[in-house]
Amino acid sequence: MEGLKNKIAIVTGASRGIGKSICLALAQHGANIVAAATNEELLQKTCTEVSAFGVQSLAVKCDVSQSAEADKLIDAAVQKFQRVDILVNNAGITRDTILPRMKEDQWDAVMNVNLKGTFNCMKACSRHMMRQQYGRIINISSVIGISGNAGQANYAASKAGVIALTKSAAKEFGSRNITVNSVAPGFIVTDMTAGLSEDMKNKMLAQIPLQRLGEGKDIANAVLFLASSLADYMTGQVLVVDGGMVM
Ligand code: NAP
Repeated sequence: MEGLKNKIAIVTGASRGIGKSICLALAQHGANIVAAATNEELLQKTCTEVSAFGVQSLAVKCDVSQSAEADKLIDAAVQKFQRVDILVNNAGITRDTILPRMKEDQWDAVMNVNLKGTFNCMKACSRHMMRQQYGRIINISSVIGISGNAGQANYAASKAGVIALTKSAAKEFGSRNITVNSVAPGFIVTDMTAGLSEDMKNKMLAQIPLQRLGEGKDIANAVLFLASSLADYMTGQVLVVDGGMVM
């Protein structure tokens, strides 16, 4: 993929799932990786696998919902690599339940990680990217943020927020050669979806024209494109990667 060699990429939620796939894909195309999440042991595993591609990596334990920790993450990246070219805001959680039963802490937790975490990391990175006059920010949203979903009011609202945040930042940063785009995954096989029943998975499958559930690498491929120079003239966009589920 054009323009990724020797770039410095920060990926949040890099300990497993989609985030880990994104790290490996970016590393395969020559980017150095700063991997962030709360599980240090799994982060180290991601970094070990990334190293196989001959790039440098750094694991940073970070709860993105805490602005001081997001600041420290970006500082650690800049201290090691002197710059930040690519930021992938992928860390995300679910706390599903129907709205009348949703507790305040379930609402807050999802908003704080998914939406505020994305804001925290974007804000901390923006100073460096503006100075560099270069940046590629990719925020992982969800088709649920477009369509809504019963039992996921908190998650849907957080992901719709990520989309609005993406578009607003794209307008603010365009003149500094910083693009801000979003990838909206459909149903991807990871820990996040592992708890769903076979019956539920089959119901989802029936709504997917491409007749398979997604994999981490399907999302990583879209991130690669948006991070590469092939997408230099794209900003404020939401790339839906869902096998055709929502259209
Ligand atoms: P996952 O397997 O549950 O992984 C979530 C990642 O986020 C983990 O690396 C986790 O690491 C990290 N994380 C959670 N809370 C964090 C926090 N406070 N600070 C830093 N990192 C944190 O989920 P996934 O399926 O890969 O999802 C990745 C992203 O894609 C999420 O934003 C999700 O909403 C989105 N998405 C997923 C699907 C899907 O079907 N799987 C569909 C649409 C959108 P630690 O536990 O180590 O902190």
